Amino acid sequence: MYNNIFDTHAHYDDERFSEDSEELLSSFLSDGISGVISCGVNAESSKANIELAKKYPFIYAAVGYHGLNTEDLTVDYLEILCELVKEEKVVAVGEIGLDYHYEKETRDIQLEVFRRQIELANEYDLPVIVHDREAHEDTLNILKELKPKGVVHCFSGSVEMAKEIIRLGMYIGLGGAVTFKNAVKPVEVAKFVPEDRLLLETDAPYMTPVPFRGKRCTSLHIPYTAEKIAEVRGIDTQYLLNITDRNARMLFNIKSYD
Ligand SMILES: [Zn+2]
Repeated sequence: MYNNIFDTHAHYDDERFSEDSEELLSSFLSDGISGVISCGVNAESSKANIELAKKYPFIYAAVGYHGLNTEDLTVDYLEILCELVKEEKVVAVGEIGLDYHYEKETRDIQLEVFRRQIELANEYDLPVIVHDREAHEDTLNILKELKPKGVVHCFSGSVEMAKEIIRLGMYIGLGGAVTFKNAVKPVEVAKFVPEDRLLLETDAPYMTPVPFRGKRCTSLHIPYTAEKIAEVRGIDTQYLLNITDRNARMLFNIKSYD
């Protein structure tokens, strides 16, 4: 059994956890999970994650507006976020960023809200948790310009892009995608990322690793991702868990329990 399993990206406010979250989350500490960042995607989900963080000692919250939730924001959305970041156990602004997978019309507002949230994170000296789906160029340009601390989660770019992110002092988050049969780029990136820049994540309930594809993902699946990454890097899995736990605590400014 492994320990020091730190899941830097999950959504435990998601309705797919509503039935058994108590039972599931209560089991985490005895299953070697050392920490979880539960990420908001709008104001309501950010508040729900703050509540979870208050309830469970190993859960921390990230607050923000996901790129796909930027269309119907009220004018006071930044003021709301300003209040949320001041809450107990809020360790990051996220998940924020750009999602160009769907219609093009929302791109301008996505860009605007992404920028404003990074500026707010910088003002409060908090890291950002960045979502980048099919928006590599715009994401990189904004990160280069505003230079936040943080992580590009579920990293799907090339090794070249990973180099640029690392040059900015940011981290690369890798999850279940590295275990997928058609994974090429994530595996190359998993090999390349310097030891002190790598974070593990699930994106639970999404992105379930092999061999559980199609099932609900939870932080308990991290070892499958970790084993794959350790294998391609030629290192021990527990060693990888140890260094990624340390990296997560460094970035999100979270002390160890022991
Ligand atoms: Zn997510």
